[in-house]
Amino acid sequence: MTDQTLIILGASGDLTARLLLPGLGALLTAGHVPGLTLIGAATDDWDDARWRQRVHDSFGAHGASAAAESAGQRPPATYTAPAASDVADRARWVRTDVTDPDDLRRLLGEVHGSAVIFFALPPAVTAKACEALLGVDLPAGTRLVLEKPFGTGSASAAELNALLSRLVPEEQVHRVDHFLGKSTVLNILGLRFANRIFEPVLDAMHVESVEIVFDENLALEGRAGYYDKAGALADMIQSHLLQILALITMEAPFTMAAAEFRDRKADVLRATRLWDDPATSSLRARYTAGDLDGRKLPDYADEPGVDAARGTETLAEIVLAVDTWRWAGVPFRLRSGKAVGDSRKEAVITFKRPPRVPDGLHGCDQPDRLRIGFGPDHLAIDFNINGPGDPFELDPVTLEADFGQGDLPPYGEVLRGVFSDDPTLSVRADTAEQCWRIVEPVIEAWHSGAVPLREYPAGSSGPTLPLPR
Ligand code: NDP
Repeated sequence: MTDQTLIILGASGDLTARLLLPGLGALLTAGHVPGLTLIGAATDDWDDARWRQRVHDSFGAHGASAAAESAGQRPPATYTAPAASDVADRARWVRTDVTDPDDLRRLLGEVHGSAVIFFALPPAVTAKACEALLGVDLPAGTRLVLEKPFGTGSASAAELNALLSRLVPEEQVHRVDHFLGKSTVLNILGLRFANRIFEPVLDAMHVESVEIVFDENLALEGRAGYYDKAGALADMIQSHLLQILALITMEAPFTMAAAEFRDRKADVLRATRLWDDPATSSLRARYTAGDLDGRKLPDYADEPGVDAARGTETLAEIVLAVDTWRWAGVPFRLRSGKAVGDSRKEAVITFKRPPRVPDGLHGCDQPDRLRIGFGPDHLAIDFNINGPGDPFELDPVTLEADFGQGDLPPYGEVLRGVFSDDPTLSVRADTAEQCWRIVEPVIEAWHSGAVPLREYPAGSSGPTLPLPR
């Protein structure tokens, strides 16, 4: 493998310290990316020593456990193998204004081998940095890694895509959705396409509804700067949960080659739309003061840095239809909330009842369910059997499996794809635009006030929409 240089633009920021560097540390510790040079860049007046300390800290226990907390799954670990320490010891800091082509030229002059440029910048600055890069010669094979949110709607995503296409070919653009680096999310593929028993019943004939839920105990946790401008719909549903929907609904690709896999995902997302009018198929709400796990949480509107007038939702829910031959008629509920009492992170596929349960079998009436948990990683199947006791009385049972996590945290998995030039786990240009197209009617209805902003006390389970029948 040729030597590579990872340039992090926005290296003094939160994403770099909490998620990106711990992911990189895990990747290096696992023996990937030999010969990596790491360069940090931002306008801060740091030097190599200060940046190296940041890298060491984030590779170490502190960074790893912070990332774990945020990802809601991984136990504390240290990524301080010699290979990781060596990269940290040689890391360079180049003070850079990423909107200035001269600064960028100087920065790229430091590249050794091929280059990976990670935009860990505020979204508006990312667009300006891409414009500035138009005036700079990029080393051959340079890969560009972009964070969410990718644009603010389908038009701005298309503009950013057009800009990126002038810099490098699409295969060299990696739009990060770190949920696609989560082991359970990837397990959906194995579960569906490497078994005979599930796939034949995953269709409208057998499935009543699908829920993809990411409700968390975490509240704002000091992240108003980012979150108050994003909200639950853009932060979770437009990005991560739609990717999960695509994995649950896509047809099997012939191979896992990036082009085929991404084509199959794109097909179902193009067929996905809001179930009905935003007034009945979307819900937005914001938490008020309440108790959560013994903590007293303030009203979201009173959190430091929040502009209450913006009306940002901390809980969003939408109901979607997937108009394919396989799924037409099945409602998909996508939901995510902060400061919710019951932390629930799972996809639940609820099956239709049997056409008839023989007279005489009695006592239990729960629908069959396949539940895929995203933290902790978990799989469960709920169904009915004749349990002990009365032989004709039905009992509900659950078959459960906990499976270990992958070797790498999600950002490690994402970076592995980038360094090995494999865009399979990144979001393609057309898909990024489709994901905005799907939620745009909701955004417009919310802006116009057609859907009121509801409230829920922190620690409660929050409101929900009735599923269409
Ligand atoms: P921060 O505000 O914490 O960091 C932004 C970084 O960009 C800082 O290092 C800042 O340094 C730098 N920067 C800003 N303007 C310039 C400039 N003109 N030239 C060079 N550097 C500049 O943001 P986050 O790290 O939280 O987020 C970064 C990206 O990651 C965003 O797109 C966000 O949406 C995304 N993201 C963040 C997550 C998180 O948990 N934080 C999770 C998922 C995605 P300085 O201003 O000093 O130069």
